[in-house]
Amino acid sequence: MIQLAHRLDLIKPSSSLAAMTRAKALIAAGVDVCNLTAGEPEFATPLHIVEAAYAALLGGETKYTSVDGTMALKRAICEKFRRENGLEFDPEQISVGAGAKQVLYNVLTCTINDGDEVVIPAPYWVSYPDIVRLNGGKPVFIKPQAGQNFKITPAQLAAAITPRTKWLLINSPNNPSGAVYSARELRAIGEVLEDAPHVGVITDDVYEYLVYDDARFTTFAQANPRLAHRTVTVNSVSKAFAMTGWRLGYAGAPAPLIKEMAKLQSQTSGNPAAVTQAAAVAALQGPRAFVADWNRQYQERRDAIVSRLDGKHGLRCPSPQGAFFAYVSCDAVMGMTTPGGRRIDTDDDFVMFLLNDHLVASVQGSAYGISPAFRLSFAASLNVIEKACDRILLACSTLSRG
Ligand code: PLP
Repeated sequence: MIQLAHRLDLIKPSSSLAAMTRAKALIAAGVDVCNLTAGEPEFATPLHIVEAAYAALLGGETKYTSVDGTMALKRAICEKFRRENGLEFDPEQISVGAGAKQVLYNVLTCTINDGDEVVIPAPYWVSYPDIVRLNGGKPVFIKPQAGQNFKITPAQLAAAITPRTKWLLINSPNNPSGAVYSARELRAIGEVLEDAPHVGVITDDVYEYLVYDDARFTTFAQANPRLAHRTVTVNSVSKAFAMTGWRLGYAGAPAPLIKEMAKLQSQTSGNPAAVTQAAAVAALQGPRAFVADWNRQYQERRDAIVSRLDGKHGLRCPSPQGAFFAYVSCDAVMGMTTPGGRRIDTDDDFVMFLLNDHLVASVQGSAYGISPAFRLSFAASLNVIEKACDRILLACSTLSRG
């Protein structure tokens, strides 16, 4: 019998990936499931990026590269940060890994000592707490109060900071709530951190392009240039360019940290795939026209979900300002009973009821730290979204009290 390491007790499989796998298995078995679990665009990677990858393969870019990214890619990332975010980096301040997930992992492995605290506003991306725990750190959650649009206040942040706080982890636009922090709100958070010089900021900007209505994306260091020396700006080509399967993320940060991240990566995965790096150069340097077209479609789908669900059967579905998820509060159905006699006590129960009895796949809010709620992805076709909403409403109408 192989004995497993105790550190595995600290983590669980990603709930969103588990829900997606469950839905895909049912669909493969021929079941007509409306799958709203996906954390990825269903659009194809734009053709010019695929062509650049093909050309790179034909040109022999099939070997090891420098461990944390080619110089061509690091330069393209510096240029992207300068052009789109107003941030100045040199190539030695850039790290490239196999997705934002690996880059975040590297940052935390290189900086967290046992017991160090990482402040994470809820709801949060499922992987943050587990990555912190795997590295011996302690996640400290802040729950926004009602009426705060899923955003923390400066006072809440100030109250959460202790002498052990190492990082504040900001994700805007947010998975799963769609909240987008304005430049003014980021500056107010920055003011709190001016008085806490031991705290750094990791900002996860992977949904940068996905903003709607009058929301504008600003990254933390852009709003707080005085804190740039203790900010790590993480981004990825996954969601921006429909490249989730290519696996490429990157960070801009002070050079000494970047150097340590390269050391760590040299002893773990090595370089991200050479062909993917070539594709990422084409993505970062290429046209952005498709972004407006995709966002128009996302916005139409978002509006379809919000208009169908908000206020029906007590469900509350605030309109997300960014990313491609709706975070639906399902307080009203707690304690109700299904026609089959099962009581709905948690959002896990509700999500399983929706899947098993009404063939809608979603992810339970307990995975994201704010319950009872469930996450619906609108990175799915309008047709599937409308059908899913009809099924959810039908499901709610069958529940009874007592
Ligand atoms: N950060 C957030 C908030 C995400 O939602 C995801 C993916 O779902 C990631 C990071 C991971 O991105 P990548 O595919 O670049 O690893």
